[in-house]
Amino acid sequence: MTNAAPPLMGGMMDQPLLISSILRFAARHYGGSEIVSRRVEGDVHRYTVRDCAARARRLANVLGAQGVAMGERVGTLAWNGYRHLELYYAVSGSGAVLHTINPRLHPDQIAYIVDHAQDQLLFFDLTFLPLVEAIAPRCPSVKAFVLMSDRAHLPADGKIANLLCYEDLLAAASDDYAWPEFDEHAAAALCYTSGTTGNPKGVLYSHRSTVLHAYASAMPNALNVAAADVVLPVVPMFHVNAWGLPYSVLLSGAKLVLPGAALDGKSLYDLFEVEGVTFSAGVPTVWLGLVNHVLQNGLAFSTFRRTVIGGAACPPALMDTLIDRLDVKVIHAWGMTEMSPLGTTGGLLARHRDLPEAGQRAVLRKQGHAIFGVDMKIVDDDSKQLPWDGRTPGHLLVKGPWVVSRYFRDEGGDVLQDGWFPTGDVATIDPDGFLQITDRSKDVIKSGGEWIGSIDLENIAMAHPAVLQAACIGVRHPKWDERPVLVVVLRPEARLTRAEMLRFFEGKVAKFWMPDDVVFVDALPTGATGKVQKNRLRERFGDYFVLNGAV
Ligand code: ADP
Repeated sequence: MTNAAPPLMGGMMDQPLLISSILRFAARHYGGSEIVSRRVEGDVHRYTVRDCAARARRLANVLGAQGVAMGERVGTLAWNGYRHLELYYAVSGSGAVLHTINPRLHPDQIAYIVDHAQDQLLFFDLTFLPLVEAIAPRCPSVKAFVLMSDRAHLPADGKIANLLCYEDLLAAASDDYAWPEFDEHAAAALCYTSGTTGNPKGVLYSHRSTVLHAYASAMPNALNVAAADVVLPVVPMFHVNAWGLPYSVLLSGAKLVLPGAALDGKSLYDLFEVEGVTFSAGVPTVWLGLVNHVLQNGLAFSTFRRTVIGGAACPPALMDTLIDRLDVKVIHAWGMTEMSPLGTTGGLLARHRDLPEAGQRAVLRKQGHAIFGVDMKIVDDDSKQLPWDGRTPGHLLVKGPWVVSRYFRDEGGDVLQDGWFPTGDVATIDPDGFLQITDRSKDVIKSGGEWIGSIDLENIAMAHPAVLQAACIGVRHPKWDERPVLVVVLRPEARLTRAEMLRFFEGKVAKFWMPDDVVFVDALPTGATGKVQKNRLRERFGDYFVLNGAV
């Protein structure tokens, strides 16, 4: 084009992408779809999307009556349940900001986060009453604490001065409420990263980013959520919006099953069977528990056929068990809080259909292909782009309409590099665009100038039948800078020696990748999102070689 004349504008309606539009659509077009919740009170609650929408409108009136203004933050400390879902829609839909808080964080961090976010109200499940009692005096911004239950469950002792009852508030409110229209770029939800280094930082999602993420993540190449599905998100609604499922399930018309606090293998299995769950989502540790329960008791899944696993690398052994023994298709996904969270999902291309089983499995093991909307690149230490050859690892950067551009209250300053967000992950990308995460930058093991991918080594270790969990860390080494040491948790009753573990690696990795040693422990330290805290392992074993005089 030769001149800078203004473009010819399209002739289509202009409608902001607002979270309330998802609920309005779902209530009108899939109003009868069921929402089932295992409540912390102990029973199972069921109602329809239409009921949910009516209660969300009541709740929006409650928020207004409590003086919550546009853009103000409302905190939640809650499991996956229907009241939490009502908050998802009522808070964001009315123009306020839903601030989900991870209750597994240290109470000091929670108090810090509530204060940093300046939460006006704090809604919480019964489980978290002791926690709220402990932190309430340190939450000056909070005008009222709302127990997400009925009057019968209110504590009698009145330790919290300004304590309100959720069901009482709803009962007294009208369900006549018109969802306001405003700029789709307005903030909708706030989620803090887990803060493994320094204080947690807030990621402030917008209505637009949330709705686009919900559309994209429901697509067949991604989570493939359809009206005929029964979806049980094990991923918590208190962290990264349960991977967007509270939005994508409603816009798809599927049935939603919310498991509450009971996340052990037996409770989950029972709920899967009774409710006819077809699709679920969770981090690897959850599946380890569920799969063990099913196999140890000689059970099978009647309806469960598909799961998405992410948040940490899915061990190949777990994927094989789910596919080969339990007939459950596994979609390996990668993302992060800063990405709403989905970036890539695993799956086959048409021409992979001709590959033998093992070849297909190798493709499925990777973290997968970018979802439309997300772009990615890998670079070296000097920010030079690296080839997509499936071999060269580099720092992974991303961009897209649901990727963070700055943290809440500009914490950490300008985080982008030339408009790209540095993920802190190290990855390879193959010529077909399939991503494979090899490490987090801070966990990468640098041995004699070469990078050793700890995830690969862990996956090999976890393929040994005696191994339940494994983590590989770099320990200081006078000659090579760092060398890999494997920290292993054995299955109950299993026996394995250091030599046997090391022999298991022979022929599977290059010689210099071989771990130098194996340490057996009872359990690995995990953080608030269920991930292994390698920094704590490094603190414990970082000087291993010097201490043991191994060199
Ligand atoms: P945090 O709050 O700990 O930052 P997130 O829940 O945002 O946690 O986790 C994001 C990180 O988790 C990613 O940067 C990546 O390191 C890791 N991760 C997520 N999914 C995968 C996966 N499928 N394979 C390997 N690592 C993953």
